[in-house]
Amino acid sequence: MTVASSVYLAVALDVPLPGLFDYRHEVPVAAGTRVLVTFGRRKMVGIVWETREHPQVAEDRVRAIEAVLDDLPPLPEDWRQLAAFAARYYHRPLGEVMLPALPPPLRRPAAYTGARSAGGPVSRADRRPGLSRAPVDPAEAPMVVPSLTVQQQQALDTLDGLLDRGQGVALLHGVTGSGKTELYLRLAKRVLDAGRQVMILVPEINLTPQFEHIVRQRLCQQPQELAVLHSRLSDGERLRAWLRVLRGEATLLLGTRLALMTPMPRLGLIVVDEEHDASYKQQDGLRYSARDLAIWRGHDQKIPVVLGSATPSLETWRRAQAHDYLLVSLPDRVQAQALPEIVLVDTRRAQLEQGFTPQLLQALEARLERGEQSLVFLNRRGYAPVLRCLSCGWVSQCTRCTAHTVLHRVSGGRALLQCHHCGEAHPVPRACPDCGDQDLQPMGRGTQRVEEFLAERFPAARIIRIDADATRRKGSAQALFAQVHAGQADILVGTQMVAKGHDFAGLGLVGVLNADAMLFAQDFRAPERLFAQLMQVAGRAGRRAGGAQVLVQTDYPEQTVYQALCRHDYNGFATAMLAEREDLGLPPFSCQALITAQATQLADALAFLRAVRAWAQPLTEGTGVQLYDAVPLRVVRVARIERAQLLIESPRRGALHGVLQALLPQLDALAQGWPVRWAVEIDPQEI
Ligand code: ADP
Ligand code: ZN
Ligand code: ZN
Repeated sequence: MTVASSVYLAVALDVPLPGLFDYRHEVPVAAGTRVLVTFGRRKMVGIVWETREHPQVAEDRVRAIEAVLDDLPPLPEDWRQLAAFAARYYHRPLGEVMLPALPPPLRRPAAYTGARSAGGPVSRADRRPGLSRAPVDPAEAPMVVPSLTVQQQQALDTLDGLLDRGQGVALLHGVTGSGKTELYLRLAKRVLDAGRQVMILVPEINLTPQFEHIVRQRLCQQPQELAVLHSRLSDGERLRAWLRVLRGEATLLLGTRLALMTPMPRLGLIVVDEEHDASYKQQDGLRYSARDLAIWRGHDQKIPVVLGSATPSLETWRRAQAHDYLLVSLPDRVQAQALPEIVLVDTRRAQLEQGFTPQLLQALEARLERGEQSLVFLNRRGYAPVLRCLSCGWVSQCTRCTAHTVLHRVSGGRALLQCHHCGEAHPVPRACPDCGDQDLQPMGRGTQRVEEFLAERFPAARIIRIDADATRRKGSAQALFAQVHAGQADILVGTQMVAKGHDFAGLGLVGVLNADAMLFAQDFRAPERLFAQLMQVAGRAGRRAGGAQVLVQTDYPEQTVYQALCRHDYNGFATAMLAEREDLGLPPFSCQALITAQATQLADALAFLRAVRAWAQPLTEGTGVQLYDAVPLRVVRVARIERAQLLIESPRRGALHGVLQALLPQLDALAQGWPVRWAVEIDPQEI
């Protein structure tokens, strides 16, 4: 039965099925319009991709849409193109890209069907008066705009050239404290003054409220000109900020990776700060890189993109070396502040006291005497990474994961064994579950134990610990950082949380414990990550006149990464690493895709991936695409699910994508023979 005057709509839905879905309606609906449909028995919000003359299924099976959601104008063409690129590049259905990119209320069918839906989420958002944030206080003194250093001025001139050309990518490579932010502000100001919008992406907003404050003070006359988007916002807040950007009321968008897909009608510049940061990569669902999509978006919209970092990713560095990106350098700190001295402390023959060398303890003591702050950096939270029985060798193990459980001290002097993979926690057993012996001992140390030790060792010192456990409550991180800034702490013990963005004016010493653990993580990017992290931690210190020092304890002082670190030599490190990667044919000299399989039995996951491999083999003939063996993940079981992976690698991106395009559509059919779930990740960051 053909319904007279029907049009067919290809609708994108957020379901894990490839392709678009056919619906009909009496009149044409513009591409990018949201519609309410029934899919199976469920109501869903979808996005119209295009109008078709004929559906792809039998006409009598095509349902009518339930409603056109016209509370928003159609999502713009450039936004749809960005989504289409992401869907192609990451090999995911369009709907899985587009719908999760919308604020949750706009994709929730209940918002348009239930009794409480009156007016819909958009009109409710519009009725909410004003902003939840304090407006710019006119009484507050306007922030002083510093005059640029010679280096900054040269860098700005070059970047202005990029803005004049209107498009292209620049890498602003500047050491910590070189004043990159000041340049972002100047560039943004110029683009805003020209009536365009600016997007600034940062890895983290909650840990760096002062960044938001500076941006607001320097670039906004009215509070509504700035929209902030990150994952900790309520749905309503996120929707309101998103709408202001879409409507052009907010000219400046400051956000984390999820802000990248925000429609911006007058976008004129994208800045990606700390472009190397791993948090730009989403780790589940659509595993996209916001940095990479930002570059594509800039290219597509013919606008400039500025990437900033003290330690650029090797992917970015290579493109800058190849002159694909404009390389702009700030080699020195502003105001002639010296970079901190970085010293390697050889732990091989040292007498350690709770993991500390005498040298580090003496340095801490000396800083305490001088009334200076110190930071002890240790990327391991909890009290101890494992509990062990001294009699039989039993170690605390998660029952659901192939991982040790971590000993945590919790309030009231109690202790828990907690799994950092699945989150499950148990009380500490009184006696060894295997042999009954009561002599259970913590092995190794985390931030809690370090804090405890330092409190005993330096009883007069005021010690503050900053890690995910100490900052669980909303606002508690800010409060702790405020205490440090106010000089109410002598020693700060922290994980990578302290490395992000905060400048500690009074910090004279940084001690790094257990860096080697990161170096020997089984991943070819481990040295790159370690270098970036230690440079960043070191950058927290010494933004002051006079001798700040970083002591890095290591068993391997001769390693390239540590040697380069001591010289503050990013360029040398990057050159050495790139030579090594080129020899081994690793990214950025090749492209990778990772197919992962999950099953309750490891054998199933592996068998499935071996079948995938056999299936893929003929597709790779003569393409240069290499299929590795299917292997279990390093942490093979998490929450009782076994996990395995198949790595696919190619010197040429086109060849890799060609193989994936032929292979992936067949995998669902193939997977039906196995009790497995599979996923594909393009440009995996951890393998
Ligand atoms: P980066 O982002 O490169 O690590 P920042 O932008 O945080 O460096 O700058 C470090 C500090 O120097 C900040 O406190 C900033 O306000 C200050 N600063 C930047 N440029 C200048 C300048 N030209 N004159 C004086 N201070 C400056
Ligand atoms: Zn035992
Ligand atoms: Zn677990």
